[in-house]
Order: sequence, then structure tokens, then C-alpha cells
Amino acid sequence: MADVTFSPSRPFVELLPIFEDNYVFVLVNPFNKEALVVDPGTHEKVINYLQEKELTLKGILLTHHHRDHIGGLKDLLKTFPVPVWAPLKNKHQIPDATYYVEEGHQYDAASFQFSVMELPGHTLGHVAYWLQEPRWLFSGDVLFGLGCGRLFEGTYEQAYYSLKKLKRLPPETLVYCTHEYTETNLRFCKMLSSLDDTPLRGDDESLELYENELLNKRSLGIPSVPLKLAIENRVNPFLLAESLQQFTYLRELRNMQS
Ligand SMILES: [Zn+2]
Repeated sequence: MADVTFSPSRPFVELLPIFEDNYVFVLVNPFNKEALVVDPGTHEKVINYLQEKELTLKGILLTHHHRDHIGGLKDLLKTFPVPVWAPLKNKHQIPDATYYVEEGHQYDAASFQFSVMELPGHTLGHVAYWLQEPRWLFSGDVLFGLGCGRLFEGTYEQAYYSLKKLKRLPPETLVYCTHEYTETNLRFCKMLSSLDDTPLRGDDESLELYENELLNKRSLGIPSVPLKLAIENRVNPFLLAESLQQFTYLRELRNMQS
């Protein structure tokens, strides 16, 4: 049945929570009722949402090859045989893609224009999709609220430079990262704040504001995603790291926590 309350006046991103703490993102263009899906770890919720809102899926964007990002791909394609964008370096793990993307490639689908940023570290082939208008970034597992992705394949150096690249995006960028890890990362930041000798922390006031807003949102069941890049730049210790050594120190310290 059509949802009569569904009449947004501009493009938006719907967050579909899956598994314990993942989001699948649906980019919706309300004018032509077309949509794109990013990182479908599973398919049921996505299909239900598209059908309920009577949206036409025009494509699937994948940031990297981990199961919780691509697990729903095959079944989604059975229902909607649409183009798939995936990192060129993951061709082997994702053989079903239509377009294999690399740094700077630009595309247009469902009236959304997006370009590709290569961001190795979490995995070697990891990419993000950047929409200059309206300043949305779909960044998979590279950056999280107050944190960054664990390094499974890449080096510290690669991850450090990937984050540096994100810092150069316009500060008003909204970052759609795939996991709701912000509260866990907050505990890490507070532990950092308790260390006297570390320069690797945002100022306490900004972190306190961040914490209040975060806890408010989460107590109401509101996602902490999208992240505001301007704010992450001020408080996220991994973005504040000024050298590879600092970044490595932080990442190793973070690895010791659960
Ligand atoms: Zn991953």
C-alpha cells in the first residue's frame, strides 16, 4: 500500500539498521521516485523499504568486499537487476559488478552525481562515494564517529593518508559511515582524555557537547550517523593525529580495547 505521508521535498538518505550495528543507506530522489542503495549487507529490509515506498532502484554502490556490506547483493539483484558499482581492486571478491571504480571516476544514476575516492587501510580496495551536491560521503568502514576502521589489509600509512584525504572535504560534509560505533568510541576518547601526556584529543568542551548530543540521540533511538565532518575534525582523535606516528600509536591503543 502506498504511504500517503511520504512526500519529502528534496533528496534524502534513509538509514536501514541491519545486524547489530550496521546501516544500509538508501538515497532517495523523491521527484522521480528513484533510489540507490549503498552496502546492502542483507536484502530483506531493503526490498521491503523500496516496495513500501514504491521506489525504483537504479543502482547499488559497494565500498568494499566485507560480507556485512555485500551479503544482500545477490538476492537484491534477483529482484532488481540493476547496475552495481564496486572497487576495481575487489573484482575478484565481487564478480557481479557492472562498473569497477577507481579514484576520480564520476557517475550519474537516479539523478545523483557521485565520484569515487580510493581510501585504502581498512581494506586495500576500499572506496568512498562522494556527492559534491549535496555534500554527502558514503565512506563504509574508513571513518566512524570518534573513531576509524580497523586495519585488516592496509598499512597504518595508507589509513593515515586516507583520513587526511577526508579532512580536505568541505567541512559541511555529512559522513554516512556504515557502523553505529560512536558510543563505544566515546569511551575510548574519554580514556584518552584521562591521559595527561597525550596531545591526541579534542578540547574537553567540544567533546562534552558531542557526548551530550550523542547520548540524547541514542536514548531516543536516533542514529549518530550521518556524522558532521566539521565536528569530527575537532574531536575525532584519528583525524586530529598530526603524524603517522601519532596515528599508529592511537590505532594500536584502540586495538587493545574491545
Ligand atoms: Zn569492513
